[in-house]
Amino acid sequence: MIQPGKLVIISGPSGVGKTTVLKRLFSQCKLPLRPSISATTRQKRPGEVEGVSYYYLSDEEFQSKRENDEFLECVEVFGHGHWYGTLREPVSTGLNEGKWIVLEIDVEGAARALKHYADAITIFIHPGSIEELEKRLRGRGTETESALNRRLDVARRELKAAESYQHIVTNKSVDQTVNDICQLLEALENQ
Ligand code: 5GP
Repeated sequence: MIQPGKLVIISGPSGVGKTTVLKRLFSQCKLPLRPSISATTRQKRPGEVEGVSYYYLSDEEFQSKRENDEFLECVEVFGHGHWYGTLREPVSTGLNEGKWIVLEIDVEGAARALKHYADAITIFIHPGSIEELEKRLRGRGTETESALNRRLDVARRELKAAESYQHIVTNKSVDQTVNDICQLLEALENQ
């Protein structure tokens, strides 16, 4: 009998470096970690790939899946004006196959997912401060000034929610953050 995997929920404000950290985590960590691919109604950014970064859906497609109860959780992420959601089926299939499924979702979605998977491991990637986050977002240069200010507003709310996570990891360097997350997950392997 295969031992079911664990659900890992990772949140952190946009621009904190989650994508880079997670990419490294998947290649470096010895556990059978698998990313959950979210669905979104937002536009694809340069460098993103359909079915790898996200499933890009029209508003109609997204709402139809929502009505069919295909999402484990979905939210209109505050300040973005777009829907994001985790599909139920790939998560339960992956867990049943013994995989550790990693959800990279916002704090509201995390609270909803926890209602279904109360034993999930929750990790918050913290920028250290709002000023540090602003520096990173400006450096990335993908946002207009108003989009950037919206993201910072969302980030302020998200940082307040960090305290409800089991683990808070401050992203001072990618190497350190990947090591910290990897170590804490490996320590939970036999629990
Ligand atoms: P971005 O547009 O920068 O890729 O993501 C914006 C926000 O949406 C991030 O905070 C990210 O964690 C969140 N997000 C991505 N996928 C999901 C999802 O499936 N569900 C929820 N609730 N949030 C998500």
